[in-house]
Amino acid sequence: MQNSNNTPNALTHNLTLKVIKLTIAAIIASVFFRPFFVTLPAIFTVLDLINLTLVTIFYIIVRLNLATKQEITLSLLLAIVLITPTFYLSGGVNSHVAFALPLYPIFAALIGGFRESLLVTAFLSISVIITTIFNGLIPDLTGEIHSNEKSIARGFWLTISIVFSGVFGLFFLKKHTEFTDQLKDENIHDPLTGLLNRRGLNRNFSLALETAEMSSTPLSLILIDIDLFKKVNDMYGHDIGDICLIEVGTVLSNNIRKTDTIARFGGEEFIILLPNTSQNEAAKIADNLRNIIAQDKFSDFSLPLTITLGLAERHKQNDNALNMIKRADKALYRGKDRGRNCVELSE
Ligand code: GH3
Ligand code: MG
Ligand code: MG
Repeated sequence: MQNSNNTPNALTHNLTLKVIKLTIAAIIASVFFRPFFVTLPAIFTVLDLINLTLVTIFYIIVRLNLATKQEITLSLLLAIVLITPTFYLSGGVNSHVAFALPLYPIFAALIGGFRESLLVTAFLSISVIITTIFNGLIPDLTGEIHSNEKSIARGFWLTISIVFSGVFGLFFLKKHTEFTDQLKDENIHDPLTGLLNRRGLNRNFSLALETAEMSSTPLSLILIDIDLFKKVNDMYGHDIGDICLIEVGTVLSNNIRKTDTIARFGGEEFIILLPNTSQNEAAKIADNLRNIIAQDKFSDFSLPLTITLGLAERHKQNDNALNMIKRADKALYRGKDRGRNCVELSE
């Protein structure tokens, strides 16, 4: 099943869960270990516990799939809104909260996406710049001694880190998107001919069947098999056979309409899907293709090749891809029996 925009995919989902678990671990570690290093007012432990409760609730929501992608994005922004008062109340750029801020744009990119990362980066950068400018007015509950210059320096580096983390997050997302797009593309294409493979065909077939059903339009299918192809391999070798397959695929795809879909169905077999086309119309297209291939010569050896084509049209009731292919296959074998290089219609 394909992911809709509203449903987080498995990768994003698992990543979100990992990030939340990491956050929970960081808060717990902070509650337990911070007293060994700094002495802070009790309010910070209370704030940590509130954060821990919120993050745990968020974890349960994501874990049980109670939230769609949009809700996850909203929760992410809510988390930022929640952390900001802690940031403002605990000394701004001098606050311990400031150390965690540069992580947010990366998390936002991983969990949310481009828009979320940009929003979080902009929001945090502006917050840091404001708290840096007005650092003298911000209550410092941490009790840390800080000078104006020190605060400005911290604000400067903090802003740089947040922007850097935002840029890194976006760069990572871009690479990730490119990589997954490439994988998706390779997944549905045949590496030899570059045409759609059977997986790609199945996807297009389902869509074409749905459209034909909804719009009550015909849908035809042409199953093509190269004649006596084994002989080409036996006489000229597998490499030349491969080149012939590539060339036949190219000739076929160059001579179909934009709305038609061609795929390599198996070894030396191709399938063409013809939406909004009756079997009689498809027969004309099939005969044209048969003729073009028969007139052409293939590979450096200028080999003559012929194809046999079996046709099928979607039945109005209870038809599916498998049955259509079965009927076209039967027709194809009748064509082979008839002596090849011909077009056969199914009943
Ligand atoms: P027919 O007219 O009855 O279809 O005869 P045929 O020889 O084409 O049929 P058969 O099914 O006996 O042989 C198909 C051949 O296609 C056998 C196989 O070696 C060849 N073939 C299948 N896939 C590939 C491929 O990827 N590359 C090459 N070079 N040959 C392939
Ligand atoms: Mg075959
Ligand atoms: Mg064959």
